[in-house]
Amino acid sequence: MSTNEIKQGHPKGLYLLFATEMWERFSYYGMRALFMLFMIKALLFDKNFASQIYGSYTGLVYLTPLLGGYIADRYWGNRRSIFWGGIVMALGQFLMFFSALNYTDPGLAKYLMYLGLCSLILGNGFFKPNISTMVGHLYEPNDRRKDSAYTIFYMGINIGAGLSPLWCGFVGDTGNPADFKWGFLSAGIGMLVGVLVFELLKNKYLSTPQGEQIGLAPKKSALTENLNLIDETEPNSKKRLFLSLAGVVFLFLLFSVNFGSFSGSATLFSGADWIGSAIYAIGIMMPLFIIADKSLTKVERLRILVIFIISFFVIFFWSAFEQAGASLTFFADEQTNRNIFGWEMPASYFQSFNAIFVVTLAPLFALLWSLLGKRGVEPSSPVKQAIGLFLLSMGYLVIAFGVRGVDSHMKVSILWLTGLYFIHTMGELCLSPIGLSIVNKLAPARFASLLMAVWFLSNAIANKFAGTLSGLYPENGVTKSIIGYQITTLYDFFMLFVVMSGVAAIILFGLSKWLEKLMGGIK
Ligand code: GLN
Repeated sequence: MSTNEIKQGHPKGLYLLFATEMWERFSYYGMRALFMLFMIKALLFDKNFASQIYGSYTGLVYLTPLLGGYIADRYWGNRRSIFWGGIVMALGQFLMFFSALNYTDPGLAKYLMYLGLCSLILGNGFFKPNISTMVGHLYEPNDRRKDSAYTIFYMGINIGAGLSPLWCGFVGDTGNPADFKWGFLSAGIGMLVGVLVFELLKNKYLSTPQGEQIGLAPKKSALTENLNLIDETEPNSKKRLFLSLAGVVFLFLLFSVNFGSFSGSATLFSGADWIGSAIYAIGIMMPLFIIADKSLTKVERLRILVIFIISFFVIFFWSAFEQAGASLTFFADEQTNRNIFGWEMPASYFQSFNAIFVVTLAPLFALLWSLLGKRGVEPSSPVKQAIGLFLLSMGYLVIAFGVRGVDSHMKVSILWLTGLYFIHTMGELCLSPIGLSIVNKLAPARFASLLMAVWFLSNAIANKFAGTLSGLYPENGVTKSIIGYQITTLYDFFMLFVVMSGVAAIILFGLSKWLEKLMGGIK
């Protein structure tokens, strides 16, 4: 790589990862756009059951990165994990295709769909943390360009995410249930294109500034010296694993009992939210398991602690942000005037606003970080996260005022929801790509993908929590409450998110100096 390329612009490898991830997200979001409709309109599931399957699927895809991250760090390396993850996901999409092809035989179609979902969940676990880790490894550990690199990468994510619902919706959601299969087939082909591009070009472009290939399997010596997550030679590691597993089982049972009784079911475990319980239990134990690793130095441990603290705060971001697919869609459907010059825009179109805004704003943000970086006034990563949370709060504040005094029969201007998505996207760009970058900068190389998976784990938790919060959406003037906060109107509902993300932003901002210190020189 030329000095020129190092000083200006970004390595070509970034654009290879950009293209690969763009196709993978095309596949992921294309399938997701059709999935719910397919269950309801082709397999004739009832809405409630279909929503449960949908929620479990989107929660689990962010849980399996722990497995894929662990295997990559310890045995396979990023490249092999991305390849197999991609193949297994393509297989999952083709199983969805065969399921849709046989929708008139519900028994067979259901079986194929569940197999397909399992493949997608497993494959994503191997693909997502590993591709995200590789982006940062194209640079020197403390290269200032990482934040803008991840922002460019994020643009690739959203080009795929923005286009695929349009394409897969066009070929698959035609009103004829026999057509769903074409959407799933497109998603499968998109995934294969991603794998192919990656495989053909990886050796040429994926290297460090010194020309060393990245993402290969860890060397044998590194394995025995450093990777003692379950190292036979270290007695502590078995004990640690055992205690952590016991902790997961204990918490899982505890949460299952509670969830069962929350939902008002008669006996201990009936009605339990098994998947939610598993996600919360693993979400608590996994960080403890990692931080107790004896091979970590003090500095490494403190940096990992920063990753955990930030991952905790972003749970509040995603659980408010992910209302997009839930309560904000109800709002778009029922209380937003979507008439544009005589054309009634479908409520589902709001789903692509975010992706469109990311693609248009991401280059500006990448430029902004670069410019501020050159002048030495770029905010630190924790401060950027706090700004992201603050913007999220502001987005909800805008809409809260838009709906003040509006009753459930009135519709408000499309500008309110558009403004909300615009502000939220700015927040997302301060938080999400920067979060990937921060994890990459702070994680010791031998735990790089596993810690990336912890970042995604906060998404799994947030998605579950988002569902609970969405259930507080006001209906017919009935008052609902959460920890003493009463919700009767839309204004109350949106103010909940203003307060939740606003308080999180203020606390994170207050902690930022301390976090910067713990980061030990990494910005
Ligand atoms: N939309 C982004 C993606 O699909 C971020 C998802 C997330 O971290 N919640 O990768």
